[in-house]
Amino acid sequence: MDLVLFGIQGCGKGTQAKLLAEQYGFGIFEAGGELRAIAASDTDLGKKVKSYIDVGELVPHTIIMDVVEQAVSKRPKDQKILFDGIPRDENQMKDFDSVMKKLGREFRCIHITLDPEKGVRRILERAKTQGRADDASEETIRKRMNTFTEKTMPVIQSYTERGWVREVAGVGSVEEIAVQMAKAWKALASL
Ligand code: AMP
Repeated sequence: MDLVLFGIQGCGKGTQAKLLAEQYGFGIFEAGGELRAIAASDTDLGKKVKSYIDVGELVPHTIIMDVVEQAVSKRPKDQKILFDGIPRDENQMKDFDSVMKKLGREFRCIHITLDPEKGVRRILERAKTQGRADDASEETIRKRMNTFTEKTMPVIQSYTERGWVREVAGVGSVEEIAVQMAKAWKALASL
């Protein structure tokens, strides 16, 4: 069973993804990381992808869906995958669902919740050490968060209606949240 991790920017999703992956043997697919790697390449595609990331907008549908499908079909069938950052809108959800079905992969979801204002503060802190261009401006951070609220929340809602989502509050220490994540995953995996 695969896992899709949702959460507003700054909720600690990346950190928790790594911990859960270590504990349960997931391979991580991080949509933003894959796209940043493409953006760093000196190609036409790289330049195009970079132009969206830099302003905090979702990259075009076909680009991200190609990246996901290629990455997932390359992985061994018996490796569980933790998806971080996909699907991000209803259009991606439709295609993600069909890719997963085609590849015979089932998944469930965890949504890490956080007050958006806390998220903004955490990301501005992260910007000081990680140097991500899209973290440095508060305007870009807020734009990405608005996209999450307007486009990704309806996706979470749809999966919730299927009974596939557990919520974990993204407050407390990294270790405390990790305990709740493990509980949520165990509950989902045994459904
Ligand atoms: P993240 O690392 O998840 O904050 O993503 C950084 C940036 O990568 C986003 O602001 C988008 O420009 C792009 N991105 C990440 N995931 C997706 C996706 N599923 N669809 C489109 N663009 C994405």
